[in-house]
Amino acid sequence: MFARRVEKIEAAGFRRIFELAANVENLINLSIGQAHYDVPEPAKEAAAQAMRAGFNGYTATQGLAELNDMVVSYVKDRYGVESEAAFITSGGSGGLLLAFLTLLDRGDEVLLPDPYFISYYHLAHLCEAKITYYNLYPNFELNLEELEQKITSQTRAIVVNTPGNPTGGAFPEAQIKALCALCRKRGVVILSDEIYADFSYDFPHVSPLKYYDNALLISGLSKTWGMAGWRMGYVLGPAKYLDRLKTLQQFTLVCAPAPLQRGALRAMQCDMSAAIDSYKSKRDLVYDGLKDKYDCVKPRGAFYIFPKVPEGYTDWQFVEAALTRKVLLVPGSAFSTRADHFRISFAADDETLQKGIEILREFV
Ligand code: PLP
Repeated sequence: MFARRVEKIEAAGFRRIFELAANVENLINLSIGQAHYDVPEPAKEAAAQAMRAGFNGYTATQGLAELNDMVVSYVKDRYGVESEAAFITSGGSGGLLLAFLTLLDRGDEVLLPDPYFISYYHLAHLCEAKITYYNLYPNFELNLEELEQKITSQTRAIVVNTPGNPTGGAFPEAQIKALCALCRKRGVVILSDEIYADFSYDFPHVSPLKYYDNALLISGLSKTWGMAGWRMGYVLGPAKYLDRLKTLQQFTLVCAPAPLQRGALRAMQCDMSAAIDSYKSKRDLVYDGLKDKYDCVKPRGAFYIFPKVPEGYTDWQFVEAALTRKVLLVPGSAFSTRADHFRISFAADDETLQKGIEILREFV
């Protein structure tokens, strides 16, 4: 009845936990995948003004020239990535969709991290690609020897997500350089999801695109500027790929929302370092609050921590037990081939985090 490509794309099993949580009063929600702060006021004003001024039509497929220039200089100034052009799309998710569709054919192998951001799994299925996982457990770092053994003659691309969802793991410069050297040697394209780049707490974020030109940098404004609902994303990389992505966007997503592109341009002029610093403090609060009770790795970035479930529980049992105490978590198997971890998001106010930590400490 449906096309084969959508057969394996099912509603996420972990939605059940959100259904259960819907009836819980005074929920301590540690499951949220977006920053808990709002879009900067000047950005809202710029978007509203654009709307009022009638800037409500299509833009060029690749987005506003000024926004493209802004993205190119942002990524160069912050991450040292030189790029002639960028490409504006509908959220990081739009960039991922176009990149997967452009690069992966039926039967191609794609390397995904385990644990992974859930969309990679479904996008790979949409392309009818074959998934091979490279393992990030137990420290959520790259193990290049192990990874190299996973590369075959059919491997077309590797998806890299640093800092990563759901682990908070991030790869330092030496690992990124070595990964680029390996991919160059083996002719593998890197799809680099850097949506959490600005949330790097312990060492500077490094993009594979800095060292390897057969790579796409996929990112967006959802997280840093608290605008997940605006659907602002971008892709940087070699022109040969961006041109293809652009043509595909022309006939699918068309363009990112016009007035919100104006707002995004203004947002990128707003300094978010205070917000990012507060997230580093939240990382410390949560890690220090749990480390003696849970087996967990200190997150290097993003806003997640991915502890092991206590002895005697599966991830689901643990998440359901936490919910009886009003704490909402996400079971690790939502993001992994394994079912022995759980995800905490610390994108919440400190009071909520304190309460959540207290309750989680009482468990063990
Ligand atoms: N990549 C990762 C790792 C994410 O966690 C998310 C959102 O949660 C996205 C991409 C997509 O973000 P958006 O489409 O809102 O830009």
